[in-house]
Amino acid sequence: MNVLVINCGSSSVKYALFDKNEAIIVKGKRERLGQQDDDRRGTHAEAIANIFAELAGHSIDAVGHRVVHGGESCQQSRAIDDDVRAAIVKHIPDAPMHNPYSLAAIDAAVKALASVPHVAVFDTAFHARMPKRAITYAIDQDIAKAHGIRRYGFHGISHEYAANIAAGFLERPLQDLRLITLHLGNGASACAVEFGRSAETSMGNTPLEGLVMGTRSGDVDAGVLLSLLRSGEFDVAGLDTLLNHHSGLAGLSGLGNDLREIEQAASEGNERARMAINVFAHRARKYIGAYAAIMGGVDAIAFTGGIGENSASMRARILQRLEFLGVVMDEDKNNDASVIEDKDYARITTERSRVEAIVVKTNEELMIARQTRKVIESKRPKEALEIPIAISARHCHLTEDTFKRLFGENATPTHYKDLVQPGQFACEERVNLIGPRNRIEGVRLLGPLRKVDQVEISRTDEFKLGVDAPVRDSGKVAGSAPIILEGPAGNVQLSEGLICARRHIHMHSDDAKRFAVKDRDEVSVAIVGGDRDLVFGDVLIRVKDSYALEMHIDTDEANAAELGRASVGSLSQTDVDDPAYTLVNQVHAALTE
Ligand code: ADP
Repeated sequence: MNVLVINCGSSSVKYALFDKNEAIIVKGKRERLGQQDDDRRGTHAEAIANIFAELAGHSIDAVGHRVVHGGESCQQSRAIDDDVRAAIVKHIPDAPMHNPYSLAAIDAAVKALASVPHVAVFDTAFHARMPKRAITYAIDQDIAKAHGIRRYGFHGISHEYAANIAAGFLERPLQDLRLITLHLGNGASACAVEFGRSAETSMGNTPLEGLVMGTRSGDVDAGVLLSLLRSGEFDVAGLDTLLNHHSGLAGLSGLGNDLREIEQAASEGNERARMAINVFAHRARKYIGAYAAIMGGVDAIAFTGGIGENSASMRARILQRLEFLGVVMDEDKNNDASVIEDKDYARITTERSRVEAIVVKTNEELMIARQTRKVIESKRPKEALEIPIAISARHCHLTEDTFKRLFGENATPTHYKDLVQPGQFACEERVNLIGPRNRIEGVRLLGPLRKVDQVEISRTDEFKLGVDAPVRDSGKVAGSAPIILEGPAGNVQLSEGLICARRHIHMHSDDAKRFAVKDRDEVSVAIVGGDRDLVFGDVLIRVKDSYALEMHIDTDEANAAELGRASVGSLSQTDVDDPAYTLVNQVHAALTE
């Protein structure tokens, strides 16, 4: 499969055609697009048409497009359809220097080659699983929610690539490493890659936050914007222009956004140029310190992007005084690193440096090609169908006879509240469990009364009680563990009935159709997006038209995945692309071989 990658920047389009072995067949770049000066070389759309004309003799099986911002609904790579397009349009105001051009490029590319799939690969994807504390702004949360104000992070494709190269260089799995990646180009951002995941990154709701960039300000006290608005001299458009186009290296130096020219001017004594370089380096160093702090350490720092790859003096400034962190730069290596001809990276630290620093030649196109292939090759579109999860605390189901012996001859179960499963309810009544080692008080009765006694506890409860209960499907209590129940009217010794309930999903036959499963199938359910992602294997499907869709797990299982109320999981039975699921399968295969 040949994949054409289109990486559309604000004034340039880079493209590369990869063959099935990831070798580049053709690559190129169109620059100075959409500029208003004499040098104007046409629009992005014209450039795309031109690129396709150039590639006319080659076979292209799929096209991958880099897209900066797709918002909440588009955080993973997706085949481009009307929904994806609408999401890109919706986020134009958040990424004004990128999304409009991506859209123009996508439309032009689809027009030029409608017969193959086009895939959007998002800059936000790598950051999609940042912890809540990192994506949340400390503003009124109702307003934040209403306006979708949260941090997304960008440059994800580049950060992920740099992190992978760093892991390769260190010859250690990415999952064991704490890395800081610095993408320093016209846009610039830092990322804390903790054990393979983006844990924090400097760009936020839009690509304006964080580091000093070519023409963008990065971090600015929001109070400054208020006072500029109040001054009457700036309206929204004026502020937009100021922060996106007249700030950063360009605003500081007054010489434009090209660091080469700024460095030249600084060497000739230009004060503003020197200041621009200092502010840029200071901000980057500040983020390195912050990210080392949030990860509790760092194994390597990777520089990439036009500035990160080429400016030895900027790298040296950023790394100076970081010896306390364990970074000892090798000046010669740093100076020589800028030309990385035949390698993906160059090391710039000394032998005795505890923390490594490397320069990585960015290769966003390769990452986009890989993602595109992955989307195309996944046989079925990812059906992430959500399943609500109910966490069952320890509870019991009792027979009428046992109930009366515990609560009195004339007692009947008192309704406390309805459960999700129709006809099922929690009761006011509670019993105490008495085990050989300890007792557990206040175990709730669930109604209605049943034909067999069944007490469901977690593994942790078993240890406390000093019993060994088997994992069982509900209702299958024959030969399970004994337990003593204590009620206000007396004790009952059950010779069996104590179980650790097997995790299961209740569903209606319509759900079963939707999920393509049948009664008593076993599936895996993936919990993703929180702090402790987990795939639950051996989940039993129970289909009955009186059931409401709900997965039941116990408190131990919920805690293992850090689940709370109103959690959801997704069926990963068909989701063979999910690395976690693949792992489950591999383990399974190894055990059954
Ligand atoms: P983009 O984010 O648009 O892809 P790049 O990653 O190409 O941008 O980075 C552009 C920046 O890299 C510019 O500020 C440019 O001056 C800087 N740069 C490129 N080469 C050098 C160099 N040899 N020395 C210093 N800066 C450089």
